[in-house]
Amino acid sequence: MHSVPWFINPWLAMFPVLGTLHEIYCELDNEISQWALKSQFNCPEGCGLCCTNFEPRVGQAEALYLACYYISQSSQCLESLKSLKEVPPCFFYDPEPGPAKGHCSVYPGRPLICRLFGFSASRNKQQQLVFRLCKIMHQNEERQFTEEILKERFKILPPEMGRYSSQVNTLSPDLNWESMPLKQAVEKAIAHLYLKQKYLGLEGSPHIESSKEDFIA
Ligand code: SF4
Repeated sequence: MHSVPWFINPWLAMFPVLGTLHEIYCELDNEISQWALKSQFNCPEGCGLCCTNFEPRVGQAEALYLACYYISQSSQCLESLKSLKEVPPCFFYDPEPGPAKGHCSVYPGRPLICRLFGFSASRNKQQQLVFRLCKIMHQNEERQFTEEILKERFKILPPEMGRYSSQVNTLSPDLNWESMPLKQAVEKAIAHLYLKQKYLGLEGSPHIESSKEDFIA
């Protein structure tokens, strides 16, 4: 069991699903590290091209997770979310890369698809695992690898996209909440967090208000 990050901690009792999701993210991040280490496939520094090509869609659990991170960054988060420019296609893409986050302004809270991109394999119609290098990582290398080749060459398989997606897809407890584009989902999740906080009388809770300071200290 991994300890939950500081930005989730204040909300965990209200939304236990965040802890389950965090476990899945940790397992995936660990699998990706091992895969990247053995395969030597890594994103070039400062790339971020994948973020300029799509806006992720997320379900409730992932939207809440990211919303917790976003809230921890700004007490005026709904207002700042609305005031951010629509930079198509991903709203959270930051053109100025930072050392720890690359181009993602919400890196610690980013959704599953962003974690998987470039580092996962999927199954073809014959149910065989296939790994395709992203077009930036693909230089002089072959682009597509079968399961046999992966095992033979790298002695390890990359994380399987379908396995993680199905785990995450079962987490969203509200069946009325369909997956939706990231910005819309995060706005809805922030409103949901605040509403629940208000309902439980936790507004101004020192635990919630001080979470960021605890981390920084
Ligand atoms: S959430 Fe972050 S990592 Fe995902 S597409 Fe947007 S900018 Fe990229």
